[in-house]
Amino acid sequence: MAFNLEKLLRPHISSIKPYSSARDEYSGKAGIFLDANENPFGSMATGNHNRYPDPYQHDIKEKLSTVKQIPANQIFLGNGSDEAIDLLMRAFCSPGIDNIIILPPTYGMYEVSAGINDIAIKRVNLSDSYQLKPQEIISEVNDNTKIIFICSPNNPSGNKLNRRDIYQILTQFEGIVVVDEAYIDFSDEPSFIEELKNYPNLLVMQTFSKAWGLASLRIGMAFASVDIIKILNLIKPPYNISGLTQEKVLEALDNAADIKDIVTNILKEREFLENELVKLPFVKKIFPSHSNFILIKVTEAKKIYEYLIEQTIIIRDRSKVTLCEDCLRISVGTRSENDALLLALKQYQA
Ligand SMILES: *Cc1c(COP(=O)(O)O)cnc(C)c1O
Repeated sequence: MAFNLEKLLRPHISSIKPYSSARDEYSGKAGIFLDANENPFGSMATGNHNRYPDPYQHDIKEKLSTVKQIPANQIFLGNGSDEAIDLLMRAFCSPGIDNIIILPPTYGMYEVSAGINDIAIKRVNLSDSYQLKPQEIISEVNDNTKIIFICSPNNPSGNKLNRRDIYQILTQFEGIVVVDEAYIDFSDEPSFIEELKNYPNLLVMQTFSKAWGLASLRIGMAFASVDIIKILNLIKPPYNISGLTQEKVLEALDNAADIKDIVTNILKEREFLENELVKLPFVKKIFPSHSNFILIKVTEAKKIYEYLIEQTIIIRDRSKVTLCEDCLRISVGTRSENDALLLALKQYQA
């Protein structure tokens, strides 16, 4: 396979000079900083928030490098994974000319971001068992196909995708293959991060929003070749991760060892929910989950969804989504939340 990053890039991007931010030229921490028009006296809120944060988040990347076993210069951090998705499109896809391939049913942001950027979308549905159809995906590729978005474990179906199908796409497609691993912490599947050395066209996305419990901070990770990461850093807004977020993420990384216990607990609750949901008469199928949510097929998805809303229990109605007819998606809650959901469902009258 001939992967040529320079050729894949939108032509004008290679000549862009990045915004030279206040802290780019001097990286020392001590000094008299009169360069960035900050307020030297402090903040109008508690805490010290008056200085601009590190634009490249060196401290986080150093720690993350150890946790994820990958060099710091192969890590990009974005304002949520959503920012990485958007930056990838802006780097590689010319509006009105290029296209991406998505694999429904899948995460909604790929399509939204493509729409905003005026990038055409090609869709190749997953199979009935929510697996990739690599042959069909490859045959959809044309000269203007720049990115294929693969989500594994998949949202909203919850299952993991077969590894050999992902390898086939990585080998046969000359554009960027994104493997979105937002739910990888809940799966027994090894991360594709370990394949980065073998595939220059691979980009792995993960997030602090799910297992790490930091959705409100807005921080997502992308792992790829040094050259791809350089491009994302070149076009990102200079201070895309706030100082407060960086502080909190550093704290979380110091507790990285505890994530196993949190995940174990969520998986136990998932199993509890599955075992209880299966007993309900209107539940037709529970799809196997490698994530922190469960997709179920029911008899009257919309009615059940609306009934639960009346009880102030909010789940996700996916019944209008491709291949998800009559399906509801339920995030695994705490035991008391799960109990409340189950109690309400037991009282549901069709
Ligand atoms: C939740 C989720 C994300 C996370 O997005 P953030 O912007 O990092 O919160 C990414 N991809 C998928 C498939 C998700 O379900």
